[in-house]
Parts: sequence; structure tokens; C-alpha cells
Amino acid sequence: MNCPNCESPQNKLQDITVSTTSVQREKLCLQCGLEFITIEEFISDTFLVRKKDGRKERFNKEKLFNSLAHAAHKKHAVPEALTKLVTEVEDHVVTQGNEIESRLLAEVVMNRLKRVDMVTYIRYAASYRAFVSADELLDDIRTTLDNVTYVPPEQPLLFDVDVVPNTESTNSKTVIRLQSS
Ligand SMILES: [Zn+2]
Repeated sequence: MNCPNCESPQNKLQDITVSTTSVQREKLCLQCGLEFITIEEFISDTFLVRKKDGRKERFNKEKLFNSLAHAAHKKHAVPEALTKLVTEVEDHVVTQGNEIESRLLAEVVMNRLKRVDMVTYIRYAASYRAFVSADELLDDIRTTLDNVTYVPPEQPLLFDVDVVPNTESTNSKTVIRLQSS
């Protein structure tokens, strides 16, 4: 690891602490003199999600499933299809390394979701992209609609085919809330 201050790769190992699950190294940057510590940690097959505030939490399939089910509120979501989508997302993200930023994870979910169900996608995007402006979200929806011309035949349908966005009862709950910034 390079120096976090000056990015110099030249450093001197000053101390090392080894445990069964981690190796901690105290280093001295030979260029700027910064002392820093690197930690090499054993992570089983646990995949971590790095949140906006820097905290990390384990990738939680159940949580993702529930957030999708919530976004699909009042639509006839097929649990198996939701589970499949969650598994696909997991399979995809774990190939990217040991952890992922929460917003990138949301992007992966949304990229898959918008190909399957636009209404659920919009609801999910609205709750997970509170940091974007309404214009950005609308642009994204427009772009997505422009690009929805082809659905691979093997693409599982997330919802019953005959389900049309429910106009009688869900509108009041489908308000897209965005933070004004
Ligand atoms: Zn340095």
C-alpha cells in the first residue's frame, strides 16, 4: 500500500502484529515521514458493503430482498423472481472484490431491475438515490425508457405479465420523494 499522504510506495516496516485473522503493519513513509498502519484481514466469503459514512456492513441478501419487495409494493412480485434477482446481484458483485460501495450496489440492482420492471425500478431508485436531483432521476428514467427495446428471452419476469401499474390505489404511495439540495 502506498503512503496515504504522499502516495509514495517507499516505506519502511516498523512493526508487525500477526493474529489468526489479521496482520497489522506499522509503516513509515520514507518520502514524507508519515507513520501509518495497514491491516490485512481475513474475510471469509463475507462480502462487505461500504456505506456513505464509511461504515461497512455485511452484504445482507435478506435486506436487499426486503427493499426490493418494498419497492414492488402492491405489485404481484414473485418471491422466486426477487430471490433470483438478489442472487444474480450477489453473483455479480462478489466478482468485483471483497466489498462494494452501497451506491454502486444500488446501481447494480437498478440496472437489473429497470430491465424487468419499470415501476419498481422507479420506486427503488427514488428511495436509494435520494442524493440525486429530480432532474437527474427524470433524465435517467427517460434514458431508460428510450433503451427499453429489447428484453432477452431468458430474462425472467419479475412480476406477473398481466400486471399493469396499479392506478387505483398505489398512486398516493408512489410519490417520488427527493431531497431538495
Ligand atoms: Zn508519504
